[in-house]
Amino acid sequence: MRLSRYFMPILKENPKEAEIVSHRLMLRAGMIRQQSQGIYSWLPLGKRVLDKVNAIIREEQNRAGAIELSMPTLQSAELWQESGRYDAYGKEMLRIKDRQDRPMLYGPTNEEMVTDIFRSSVKSYKDLPINLYHIQLKFRDEIRPRFGTMRSREFMMKDAYSFDLTSEGAEHSYNKMFAAYLRTFDRLGLRAIPMRADTGPIGGKLSHEFIILADTGESEVFCHKDFVGFDIPGEHTDFDSVEGLKAIFDKWTSLYAATSEMHDEAAFNAVPEGDRLSARGIEVGHIFYFGTKYSEPMGAKVQGPDGKEHFVHMGSYGIGPTRLVPAIIEASHDDNGIIWPASVAPFDIVVINMKAGDQACDDTCELIHAALTKAGKDVLYDDTDDRAGTKFATADLIGVPVQIIAGPRAVANGEVEVKDRKTGARETMTIEAAINRFVA
Ligand code: ATP
Ligand code: MG
Repeated sequence: MRLSRYFMPILKENPKEAEIVSHRLMLRAGMIRQQSQGIYSWLPLGKRVLDKVNAIIREEQNRAGAIELSMPTLQSAELWQESGRYDAYGKEMLRIKDRQDRPMLYGPTNEEMVTDIFRSSVKSYKDLPINLYHIQLKFRDEIRPRFGTMRSREFMMKDAYSFDLTSEGAEHSYNKMFAAYLRTFDRLGLRAIPMRADTGPIGGKLSHEFIILADTGESEVFCHKDFVGFDIPGEHTDFDSVEGLKAIFDKWTSLYAATSEMHDEAAFNAVPEGDRLSARGIEVGHIFYFGTKYSEPMGAKVQGPDGKEHFVHMGSYGIGPTRLVPAIIEASHDDNGIIWPASVAPFDIVVINMKAGDQACDDTCELIHAALTKAGKDVLYDDTDDRAGTKFATADLIGVPVQIIAGPRAVANGEVEVKDRKTGARETMTIEAAINRFVA
């Protein structure tokens, strides 16, 4: 991708409205634009990161056996009247009428709709367990949208819904998502700690929030510091092993961890003082087991092996991709800008032409751009005629992990400089060596 033909509206000044670093950097790097209060466009650079985050979420959901579908954003009020939540949900729900005056709503979540899909076709325990998910926009008319896409009114959610015959089965489904979440956040370069949580308007019996520790987080959290070093379930985790997943769940819930709503001062004080971590955190995921809370009022039942009808046991599992992007920035930045983990970087490499128009520099950059693109890398080529200082500042701001810098003097020797965005380390090497480093 040539920068001269790309759309990346960089801001030179610090936007006044941004109170936290991630919001500031997302605006400065031209990743997002606010369209109205708490409603954002994702500009091309931001969209690239969001897509990479979603790809990782999707891979881990699929690995854990969940099945993707797509449900609409607009829902009919009828379904919500069936569950009893139409009145209970309050002002966060955006209620709309269509031209026939029928009440509709912009979905804040999808328990009712997915239960409706389920009950329309699944009739036997033999089709269970099943877990259906989608990655879709939600709307909640938050009283105080703020911090950019961290807390917006329209936001994206990956929401999964599990259906089981028994509560034991549902517990295994819960543990699958629990392990999948640990893997997902780890691959996004984050350390998320599962904390016992309140179930809120979703309702239910068992619930964990996945929290990233960050000074700018909106939640107050308390946990044992050993969570910071716990092992993440590996790529070959057997998601069908009931005992294996139970062991992961038990390990990750063996020490104290709770948000302020669920905080138990006495239990926390029982943790040795040096091991207590009391901090602020960002909620990036939330999982619930709520049994038959929706299946009963909505009549979602299957025939069991005993020949009788049983209401299914359900759980729901949310992750917020449009909150994760700023959360990743909160966890990984410096004074010069964003430092993307390689897994979600908008580009793998930026090639910086220090003297656009100079034949040797142009040829070298073209060669590197073509070779790395051919090797499957996402390459941004800064072919603009901006000053060197501007180019360096932009490359640092947008946080691409590797910069390959081609200046006239080095190129005359057949060399370029390779800079690591995170460490700042620079290395001079031949053009061929620079290409080979990233092709291998
Ligand atoms: P919060 O407590 O932050 O208001 P919630 O508990 O209401 O969130 P859930 O219903 O648990 O949210 O939604 C699942 C996930 O969706 C959250 O963990 C979060 O990552 C994301 N999310 C929820 N609300 C927002 C929002 N207003 N903006 C961005 N992401 C959100
Ligand atoms: Mg929540």
